[in-house]
Amino acid sequence: MKNYKGKCSCGNIEYCFEGEPISSAFCYCDNCQTHTGSDKWFGLWVLKEKFRFSKGEPTIFTRLGDSGEAVNHAFCGNCGTTLLVDPKVVDFYSVGASTLTTENDFSPKMAIYTASAPKWAVFPEGVPKFDLLPSGVGG
Ligand SMILES: [Zn+2]
Ligand SMILES: [Zn+2]
Repeated sequence: MKNYKGKCSCGNIEYCFEGEPISSAFCYCDNCQTHTGSDKWFGLWVLKEKFRFSKGEPTIFTRLGDSGEAVNHAFCGNCGTTLLVDPKVVDFYSVGASTLTTENDFSPKMAIYTASAPKWAVFPEGVPKFDLLPSGVGG
């Protein structure tokens, strides 16, 4: 089974996870636009039990998700890189694909929250788009 590693910009925080993500998505929600400074966040959906921080402690910012449950953002308190988003209602983390250091060829399997995308957003070709979320996934 392949292991993946990643880190924040300054290197204070490192993580690893085991095996392949269960899915992956470009998320165009308002929060992702704000914390990435871009039109979207590329999240790899990694089962929480497969993931751990291997160096440092992330700082946690908590907001309320659409479900009414907490969504935690784990970021580096030094350089500000968001490492993952943790919607409490699901059993996976949305890990920032751009923080991976392991060579990979991940691509998004869906585009979510496209109803909130800015006018200048770029959508991936050939993957399903959802105004909010596909049914069965909490946010
Ligand atoms: Zn950092
Ligand atoms: Zn989002």
